[in-house]
Amino acid sequence: MEFIQNYINGELVPPTGGCYIDNYEPATGKVYSQIPDSDEEDVNQAVDAANKAYEGWKNLTIEQRHDYLIRISELISQRSDEFALAESKDNGKPYKLAQRVDIPRAVSNFKFYATAIMNWSSEANHIAEKAINYTLRQPLGAVGCISPWNLPLYLFSWKIAPALATGNTVVAKPSEITPYTAFLLSKICIEAGLPPGVLNIVHGLGTKAGEAIIQHKGIKAISFTGGTKTGAHIASVVAPKFKKMSLELGGKNPNIIFADCNYELMLKTTVNSSFSNQGQICLCGSRIFVEASIYQKFKKDFVEAVEKLKLGDPNDSDSKIGAVVSKPHMEKILSYIELAKQEGGVILTGGGQVSLPGRCAEGYFISPTVIEGLDYQCRTNQEEIFGPVVTITPFYTEEEALTMANSTEYGLASSIWTENITRATRMAEKIEAGIVWINCWLLRDLRTPFGGVKNSGLGREGGTEALEFFTEPKNVCIQYGH
Ligand code: NDP
Repeated sequence: MEFIQNYINGELVPPTGGCYIDNYEPATGKVYSQIPDSDEEDVNQAVDAANKAYEGWKNLTIEQRHDYLIRISELISQRSDEFALAESKDNGKPYKLAQRVDIPRAVSNFKFYATAIMNWSSEANHIAEKAINYTLRQPLGAVGCISPWNLPLYLFSWKIAPALATGNTVVAKPSEITPYTAFLLSKICIEAGLPPGVLNIVHGLGTKAGEAIIQHKGIKAISFTGGTKTGAHIASVVAPKFKKMSLELGGKNPNIIFADCNYELMLKTTVNSSFSNQGQICLCGSRIFVEASIYQKFKKDFVEAVEKLKLGDPNDSDSKIGAVVSKPHMEKILSYIELAKQEGGVILTGGGQVSLPGRCAEGYFISPTVIEGLDYQCRTNQEEIFGPVVTITPFYTEEEALTMANSTEYGLASSIWTENITRATRMAEKIEAGIVWINCWLLRDLRTPFGGVKNSGLGREGGTEALEFFTEPKNVCIQYGH
């Protein structure tokens, strides 16, 4: 049995209390490693190390910080197969998906911010013949980065890379449900020669290790991705301490399909946007609204396409649907399917747990589920399920589609499918979401602002938004020509 270790002050160390938590492989339902059950003492040590390393790290030249981040990205890239296998084993996602999406995107996060910091400049303003203002962008100090289990390394690195690039030191906590690639990252940082204390990774429970990070006086900012309820708790702790915070939270994203769309492209993409990563991507479209004139055709074609998705062992190269992340999460998803039935929903395909033969017999598999016949205001259509479950609903007018799309407390992402660009841009203005995809989904450009409105979060990540979050602007005004 392997024992994952914390990464504190440049070393792999066991938790000070000596306690560990079982780490399960979702595809088999079996424990395969042990995670440090870190507590306040481990976090104190990590924060001390981060604060001690801060002066040295922030005073490096941007070229030196760039070189470290590039080295880390290269080392992950060289071992991408090992990382992809680990991510798949830890999370239940198909190995092929981790190899194609999660790991390359983690590599590009480090590469992007290594380069972005080299090309970033701050503002200067001139008052003619009188004064010059220039703005210094200074790092914050030791910052906390807390991430969820659905895209483990991808989202972990999305925070860590800009924090380090801008000269902060970091205490990070991955989800205790999927810690393994963060552990591999610690080893990579040691190999890359990252100075001790610059990045510290503390494993353990959110309510214990995570709580100690957000409460700690030595942590100057919190960058958090996770559920809305946890985000609200973090805000209540962090706001009165006047720490900066960035919150990327839940979603219940609408996918609006008009009759004049590019049908083949829409159908293929909608299958992906519904069920990639078993529907456990915060950006998945879980409420599909279809113009009434093509509703019956869409329903038939969509269900047919979904039924062709191969559910199987994440190790098999042809598996498109793997296991959901944990037993409690599987039970939560199944309870929502039951709720949908009670609310009058009709299950068009899927609808339950699937038992696989062989090594995956005890795994957490749910067949991709499509439901129709539900009111847009019912709980199934309002609450985040975060699994392979979507609802389909017809609409007659643009206004009706907008009313239904905007009816939830969330506002993360949305998709619009139409060849009428005037309508698409009109809808884009009116949709309450931080991200609008027109005729596409999950098309990534790291320069763009990423985040949600309403209960989907506060602040933005990505591009210069992240560089700004991890720095404090200080204006300097020089008067001349007295
Ligand atoms: P959680 O909110 O349960 O957990 C997220 C992280 O916060 C985990 O590392 C967790 O630790 C930690 N945590 C929990 N409680 C505390 C606390 N009191 N103090 C500090 N840290 C704490 O979310 P999930 O992991 O279940 O992730 C799924 C959610 O994430 C979904 O709602 C999804 O929509 C959202 N998400 C949002 C994204 C976005 O960009 N907007 C992207 C991806 C996911 P542990 O798990 O170890 O207990």
